[in-house]
Amino acid sequence: MRIILLGAPGAGKGTLAEMLEERKGLSHISTGDLLRKEVKENTALGKEARKFMDKGLLVPDALVVEVLKKNLNSDSGFVLDGFPRNINQAKMLEENDIDVDTVISLRVKDAIIISRLSGRRICSKCGKIYHLVNMPPKKEGVCDVCGGALFQREDDREEVIKKRLEIYRKESEELIDYYAKRSKLKEVDANAEAEDTYGKLIEVLEEDGKKREN
Ligand code: AMP
Repeated sequence: MRIILLGAPGAGKGTLAEMLEERKGLSHISTGDLLRKEVKENTALGKEARKFMDKGLLVPDALVVEVLKKNLNSDSGFVLDGFPRNINQAKMLEENDIDVDTVISLRVKDAIIISRLSGRRICSKCGKIYHLVNMPPKKEGVCDVCGGALFQREDDREEVIKKRLEIYRKESEELIDYYAKRSKLKEVDANAEAEDTYGKLIEVLEEDGKKREN
């Protein structure tokens, strides 16, 4: 299975991709995580990317593609989270012969997105995602899995969230259209909590898989 998850920031792409990785053995490739790693390690690419990320702006396509190519093994199943973000990036996948089976568009209301993002906390060591209300850690500020300290992303502050949503809206319509025309697009209602949405997602993927076999 090669899947793309599309959805606004806070739609649950990262959480669902983690679940697909744990339960279905797909590799979870998040360009946001890969870029944040470059920033943390203070590489030349990371220094450049940071200028855009802290403001909630998209990183230039060439930089994102460079980091993606280093980390994507297209021979095995994967779930792409946060890539492509625009038509140009979608075309770059095709040009590099990276084929996908299904593109999932996660649909969520704005009010839910803002509450999810402002409460999101992430483990600084293993990357596990928490939420202050919906998925709190057992001990405040500490990761249940590895004991790492939890932090809030710079771009999960409310004024930056608004900017990111604006950009998503602008770019996503075209992208959704692009995959709909190629008969790859499926929609999943992602307003409910993660386990519920995961169930819906699996139903859609199984149905789609059967269609492709026939
Ligand atoms: P995310 O973790 O997917 O919300 O991404 C965090 C930030 O990383 C975004 O706001 C962008 O600055 C950058 N980023 C991640 N993926 C991409 C991409 N495909 N194209 C451009 N910028 C990206």
